[in-house]
Amino acid sequence: MTIEPFLYSSRAVNVRFGRGRAAENVREVVETHDARRVLILVTRSQVATADRLTADLGDRVVARFADVREHVPAETAEAARRTAAKVQADLVLSIGGGSTTGTAKAIAMTAHIPIIAVPTTLAGSEMTDTWGITTDGRKRTGKDLHVLPKAVVYDPSLLDGLPERLKVTSSFNAMAHCVEAFWGPRANPLTSVVAAEGVRRLADGLRAHGRGDARSVDELQYGSFLAGLVFADAGSGLHHKICHALGGAFNLPHAGTHTVILPRVLRFNAPAVPETAAALATALRTEDAATGLEELITHTGAPRTLREVGIREDELPVAVDVVADKLPIDNPREVTRDALQQLLGAAYDGKDLQ
Ligand code: NAD
Repeated sequence: MTIEPFLYSSRAVNVRFGRGRAAENVREVVETHDARRVLILVTRSQVATADRLTADLGDRVVARFADVREHVPAETAEAARRTAAKVQADLVLSIGGGSTTGTAKAIAMTAHIPIIAVPTTLAGSEMTDTWGITTDGRKRTGKDLHVLPKAVVYDPSLLDGLPERLKVTSSFNAMAHCVEAFWGPRANPLTSVVAAEGVRRLADGLRAHGRGDARSVDELQYGSFLAGLVFADAGSGLHHKICHALGGAFNLPHAGTHTVILPRVLRFNAPAVPETAAALATALRTEDAATGLEELITHTGAPRTLREVGIREDELPVAVDVVADKLPIDNPREVTRDALQQLLGAAYDGKDLQ
């Protein structure tokens, strides 16, 4: 079999995975970095968790910033940066989902302070060197190695309190990272292997979760780690462009938007990438990848339409405009404005769903 030319480069992240081990792992990583002025970033709902995990750090903790907002508004980024400067933080400890990690990244971008990330959702931002900041409804993203966390501490028990709907949609957000890793700009043979394993773990975890298996979250978080890893390595494409554009413009829930858009993009691209579609079908344990994904979404009770995540019908033309603004998008199949209109129209009301 021919191996196409490829480029592979790895990035240095220290990852610790262990149920019930977060406090111990956080302490060890902070000590390894010899951090003396730790700034904790957290959302309000996670303050008790943060207190428990950092109790052993004593006076190494100098401040806590709990004003994290979804999609990292520019004002929040500025407020977090001011806090970091005021307390002369030498390490940012982020305990939360992608919005918390994103706020930590906003600090690291300008202050070049190391981040330790303790994820409490399955978003995967902790494994990437991508930052995102929203100004006037437009989300800007970019890459910068300074924002890549130096260490990541995974502990599936931290997801116990995550609302059921977010647990499921966040898993589909992770699955989207894996799916796009197959056709991302830096995809290579290794990322495809890891992406397929990520999809398999996430799909199996979601089915086990549906059966009420309490340890299914371990599999979901392991899948989300693989997803973040390949997302960072392979890069993203059409799917992420659509979700970011819509999320920023309409302030949509990030994970729910991914859940609605992913099967549409997969169905659109599948004819152009038959080998990928076959690998995804195998990983999803189904005959047809897009249909299997739709069935899994339906089975988990996750949102299936843009209407459900918060777009009104009269906003659809604007939705097409904000995504069309990003065209041409590098994609296995050409994306015309018409194609986009059809894709978003179908995502709006779910008429094409199996
Ligand atoms: P989030 O961080 O916005 O969290 C959603 C809500 O869940 C918040 O109210 C939060 O307080 C709450 N929450 C988080 N963990 C909880 C827990 N364990 N128990 C109870 N409540 C909990 O959601 P998200 O989906 O993790 O992140 C979305 C953001 O991350 C978006 O802005 C997205 O663009 C970004 N993101 C970035 C990357 C990247 O590589 N840069 C990757 C994925 C996502």
